[in-house]
Amino acid sequence: MDKPAGYTGVRFFARNVMPIDPKLLEILICPDCRQPVRELDRDQGLECSGCGRVYPVRDGIPVMLVEEASEPTEGAQKD
Ligand SMILES: [Zn+2]
Repeated sequence: MDKPAGYTGVRFFARNVMPIDPKLLEILICPDCRQPVRELDRDQGLECSGCGRVYPVRDGIPVMLVEEASEPTEGAQKD
């Protein structure tokens, strides 16, 4: 008899963002400078704490290849 009139159908899956396993993150290092990487917000990739390269994440899988990484912005480079 009762219909779910108030059902709003909230969508939790606005984007198919898969968080990276923290244990996986721990073992990931930059193949160029061997520094640990950190996860950027909203699936933007993994940024190297050493050289500043950003490695892409595809389907939740980090692509730790220098050729695939975006170069650090010029303003961030020092030395
Ligand atoms: Zn690096």
